Amino acid sequence: MIDWNEVAKEAPRLLGAYLKIKSVNPPGNESGTAAFLKDELVKRGFSPALHQSGPDRVNLTARLTGDGRKRPVLLYNHMDVVEADARQWSHEPFSGDIRDGYVWGRGAIDMKGMAIMQLLAMDLLQRNHPARSRDVIFFAAADEEKGGKLGTSWMIENRWQELDAEFVWDEGGFGMQDFFGPKPVFAVAVAEKLDLWLRISARGTPGHSGMPHGDNAAETLVRALGRVMRINARHVLHPIVRTMFSGIARTMAFPKSLVMAQLGNPLAFRLARPFLAASPMLSAMLRDTLSVTVLSAGGKENVIPDQAEAIIDARLLPGHSPEAFVALLTKLINDEKISIDTVQTPHPAQPSDSTSEFYNALAATLARLVPDSATVPMLTPGTTDSCHFRRRGVQCYGLFPAVITPGELARFHGIDERISIDNLVLGTRIIYETLKSLVA
Ligand SMILES: [Zn+2]
Repeated sequence: MIDWNEVAKEAPRLLGAYLKIKSVNPPGNESGTAAFLKDELVKRGFSPALHQSGPDRVNLTARLTGDGRKRPVLLYNHMDVVEADARQWSHEPFSGDIRDGYVWGRGAIDMKGMAIMQLLAMDLLQRNHPARSRDVIFFAAADEEKGGKLGTSWMIENRWQELDAEFVWDEGGFGMQDFFGPKPVFAVAVAEKLDLWLRISARGTPGHSGMPHGDNAAETLVRALGRVMRINARHVLHPIVRTMFSGIARTMAFPKSLVMAQLGNPLAFRLARPFLAASPMLSAMLRDTLSVTVLSAGGKENVIPDQAEAIIDARLLPGHSPEAFVALLTKLINDEKISIDTVQTPHPAQPSDSTSEFYNALAATLARLVPDSATVPMLTPGTTDSCHFRRRGVQCYGLFPAVITPGELARFHGIDERISIDNLVLGTRIIYETLKSLVA
């Protein structure tokens, strides 16, 4: 029998210590966090390996071996965190304070908390479940918050044999409470949107701004941007999103449940639209989005600029083609003084299978441990390191295994990030029980 009260003592203590180690990216400095994890793994009888990808940039892997009948499952976490402005926090962001039933600090949710759950779950599996059909790999990555160049990308390029797995368990989705109703919905990310960066440039004629001549590059650009922003109004119901909403519908009360279950029907979609559009996260799942992120034109108050440009961050639904998207923008703009260049093009990747052995094991565990919850596949509007694994054909599933309310979620990349001790125990238990069925 596992003593979960013991986990409730150990998990916050470990996480508090881990949060104290500052690994803000940039610059990352993951050698400190890697040394901490290494130490804790060695204490528990594992033999972790460190993989240095740059000065003070370190990745870590550790393996719990099985008999090899099945291919490994990989527990992914990243060690770097985003910046925190201490003046806005009620707790010092790198203190790892344990108070009021929470562990406080930058990284508690994203994603040092999950690393601690994984570490403890793997240790429990080692002690309580000696017969295992597959290896479990623990992978702590550097550099996720800046795209993974010195982290997951580097490891896949240089240490693939350490990561080669059938399934990857990453972050991406979470157990959402009070988003749709009081019953928790575990949204497991099985696909990501494609991140396409474009530069839109306008050419014009210089001149004196007291005598407008109709060929101002800044004005041409503004008109073009006004036209391309219309893209944001086009809704598409992707099959993964349709499955997600019909799963969520089962947790809702009538008549909302009926509308959500029938979103494929144009009338139901119209009825649900105000509710869906009110959430930036949900509405991003329902369309290709476009945000203007950088603008530049002109340098002097009284001179008409002959050059102007904007950078656009477009996020396309899986399966949508970047070339077709650029062609659509060109058609909408319909102006030969405008040119569009690609700054960064996404690598397409297949969505992961939501009927796989991993998905079913996870969904069964969640149904058992959190009665009345629903588990649904999700399309994540953000990007995670899963994109690097999916490109190698690995099935990836993103779930932070905890039940989070909208108020708690706002702290993610925000102020006063924290995780409850109850969630730390629940998450450890979800990972342990899921692994137990995967290694059977
Ligand atoms: Zn993260």
